[in-house]
Amino acid sequence: MTLVLSGGTVVSSLEPPSLSRADVVVEGSRVTAVGGPPLEGIRLDCSGCLIVPGNVCAHTHLYSALARGMPFGLAPPRNFVQILQRIWWRLDRALDEESIRASALVGGLEAVLAGTTTVVDHHASPNAVDGALDVVAVALEQLGIRSVLCYETSDRDGPEIAAAGVRENERFLAQRRPLARGMVGAHASFTLSPGTLDACVDLSHRTGAGVHVHVAEDASDQRDAVARFGIRVIPRLEKAGVLREGALLAHCIHLDTAELASVKDSGVSVAHNPTSNMNNSVGHAAVAALGDRVALGTDGIGADMFAEAKAAYFRARDDDVSFPIGWPIARLAEGARFAGELFGEPALGRIEAGAPADLVVLDAPVPTPIGPDNLPGHWMFGLGSRAVRDVVVDGELVVTGRRLVKADQDELAAKAAEAAGRLWERCSSIGPHAFEPQEGDAA
Ligand SMILES: [Zn+2]
Repeated sequence: MTLVLSGGTVVSSLEPPSLSRADVVVEGSRVTAVGGPPLEGIRLDCSGCLIVPGNVCAHTHLYSALARGMPFGLAPPRNFVQILQRIWWRLDRALDEESIRASALVGGLEAVLAGTTTVVDHHASPNAVDGALDVVAVALEQLGIRSVLCYETSDRDGPEIAAAGVRENERFLAQRRPLARGMVGAHASFTLSPGTLDACVDLSHRTGAGVHVHVAEDASDQRDAVARFGIRVIPRLEKAGVLREGALLAHCIHLDTAELASVKDSGVSVAHNPTSNMNNSVGHAAVAALGDRVALGTDGIGADMFAEAKAAYFRARDDDVSFPIGWPIARLAEGARFAGELFGEPALGRIEAGAPADLVVLDAPVPTPIGPDNLPGHWMFGLGSRAVRDVVVDGELVVTGRRLVKADQDELAAKAAEAAGRLWERCSSIGPHAFEPQEGDAA
């Protein structure tokens, strides 16, 4: 089947920004031409629209999608560890197969309707570990969205569940799915024993898949590493063998100068989650010191990367009026580069002949001149997910006219709301998690 997106302005690359007025031809799963002679095929009229590369959310937790509006019931958390103990480590223990599926469908539909075509997910469901990643993968395939999945290995729920986490990553990594890839998921230094961390790294080295882990999201992660091992988090991960190209470190907030340099020099990727960081009041990542391998994630707060790019920009500008306006969209391009490596698709994130056809049609008037030089200004001050009209993933039209193509989104939301009610009920009977990091005097 040939799909011709005609009459639009094509943003063929975010970094460096590149624009042209051209028709985009999609055949099979790929873009086969941008411009050129008129072709026969199914025409999608894109007059007055911008056609942009699909966004990648480089760090999310789809399992949190049913938490929106969840009644709380406990004393409000006063710090990051209490947020985990009283919210997320209760919710994840309440997840079963039905709620994992509903969460993935809701998280996935919100992503794709917002123009996010790939999600890099970090999944936890300690009472339903075995097969959990298949449930997520199948749900996302049902919507037609691309994903990179892993299970969040952790010792916080005991050694058996930690071992099950490693096994689940290994099981999933052995599969070959068209639209999903795996990583080795690990929670964070402060919930990982030396043996469990070594098991994750061993799996990573045997399979070539990078470790996806939270790093120094809160200062307590550093205090714990120093109290338990006498070293800070980045040296601990470096010694264990995590810091290799293909690894993905989420947050990287409480790093000292030497750790920032290690991250930058090691070739690992970083997922920066500005909205989540602000929401949890955990501090600010020194993004300028982390180099170019920084992508953006939502950490589970939706999957709208237009909004996340703006949050990254305004948070940085709040400190520094000279912060470059091109930085956030270069980070979106970096997210696509990272995902492209996993799919063996170096052109993912660009709209050019030969690239995988993951693209988004934005239907909103562009009321001022637009070109490569001012694309970042349009992105920060104009474009948004509200304008997402059509979405193509892997050559398939998965959203058209702002509606899902492959699933009934109203039915899906109604079923999810029922599943959420049952999940909240189970969650209400689970108390705060007892796991505590060790407290030293580092950081
Ligand atoms: Zn996270």
